Amino acid sequence: MNSTILNLKSRIAEVADLKSAAAVLEWDQETYMPDNAGEVRALQVATLRKFAHTVFTSDETAKLLDEATADDQESDEARLLSIWKRDFERASKLPPELVFEKTKAIGRAKESWKQARLHQDFTRFESDFSRLVDFARQESSIIGYDEHPYDTLLDEFEPNMTTREVKTVFEHLRSSLVPIVQTIQQCKQPADQFLYETYDVSKLWDLGMDVLHLVGYDFTRGRQDLSTHPFSTTFDISDVRITTRIAENNLVSGLFSTLHEFGHALYEQGVDPKWQRTLLAEGTSLGIHESQSRLWENHIGRSQAFWEYLLPHLQTKFPNTLQNITLSEFYRAINKVQPSLIRVDADEVTYPLHVLLRFEIEADLIEGRLEVRELPELWRTKMQTYLGVVPENETDGILQDIHWSLGAFGYFPTYTLGTLYAAQFFEQASFALDNLESQIRSGQYSPLKNWLKTHIHQFGRAKSAKELVFDITNTSLSAEPWLKYIKTKYGDLYEF
Ligand code: ZN
Repeated sequence: MNSTILNLKSRIAEVADLKSAAAVLEWDQETYMPDNAGEVRALQVATLRKFAHTVFTSDETAKLLDEATADDQESDEARLLSIWKRDFERASKLPPELVFEKTKAIGRAKESWKQARLHQDFTRFESDFSRLVDFARQESSIIGYDEHPYDTLLDEFEPNMTTREVKTVFEHLRSSLVPIVQTIQQCKQPADQFLYETYDVSKLWDLGMDVLHLVGYDFTRGRQDLSTHPFSTTFDISDVRITTRIAENNLVSGLFSTLHEFGHALYEQGVDPKWQRTLLAEGTSLGIHESQSRLWENHIGRSQAFWEYLLPHLQTKFPNTLQNITLSEFYRAINKVQPSLIRVDADEVTYPLHVLLRFEIEADLIEGRLEVRELPELWRTKMQTYLGVVPENETDGILQDIHWSLGAFGYFPTYTLGTLYAAQFFEQASFALDNLESQIRSGQYSPLKNWLKTHIHQFGRAKSAKELVFDITNTSLSAEPWLKYIKTKYGDLYEF
């Protein structure tokens, strides 16, 4: 490794350290910090993040990046340089005044969003929201794009993915999925009341921990705690933590959230140690990250094979409510499909339609084909067309998600990209592994985890989403494997 790259590496390592330190403070804020410490904590995190940004975008870093070259384009050095240059370009293009003004606008928008939710009144949020849309449009034109202004925003979360690609795949997905949802609605629904009895929260917590031991979460390099909104966070590959939320009147929601976050954590625990402190020891895109969480939550956690192993354990823990429930009844109950208003409560089948609606609105907004005041009405129309349900108030409609009040445009599509990638990967894992289903049935997860590590996790950001998908599936992003999985599973469950 030449000396310029070595110099760069030690500089970047400091940036990584500052970011990790900020992440530790943020983790603490969501888990154990006393209530009154919030204001100062926000300043402390902002200071660390500002230092990280200053070191990263400094003239010294720019000079080193300019001078550095890698002889072999396939080498690790070449991978490091290309990611650092990409990050540098994005980070240094936006004028600091714009970033500062946007941060202030987000602060206001968060407040007016809360007020609007409280009063079920979108107009209280409208002007702050419009300002954030203006910032997003400005950012997009400063950073630049080839085809669609939304490309730039998408690129922040899903590098190199274009609006056109997402539109093509999502339109196909929507036209196939809407009729499936309509068919399921004509079918007889399973009984699922037993899932919503009152359960002992400490037993539910223990159950989540048992499941983490079953699937093999590495507790020597991570831990689980409680928080209001579950998340996973990485300080280094040696410390990847998750949180969960337990609801006493829901037997499985905490468990699925635990499996979801486990999928995220397993990804970052599995990155090759050679990428430590380089900014590459992270997920390569939000879509790929989400594919790992959905794979564990849905393809494993909502499968019959998984519950064949786990249900007897649950019945011992909760004999009063579960002793007479059969595997088939349990499996049908946790996979009930019912169109609903709230995205985060949606089932596996209807969830993508919530995302498609948001993506279509965002793309048109950023392009200037839509204005903010038109959104509530458009929201209701699309909900009716895609899901057949319409919110009675704006809090259960357009005001339900926090993303837009944070100015995060381009984030939503990654949820469904993750769903589609997960099905593409899981299909390939099933081909590659000898009888994956019977391994799950007997509680063996090492073969699947090894496959994921070999083909996805070890690379961190050193392989792009597109490279991963192509190397694993020999093709590109596609909705077909997921649609096939849904048609088979739910055709069977609902007998259509
Ligand atoms: Zn997730």
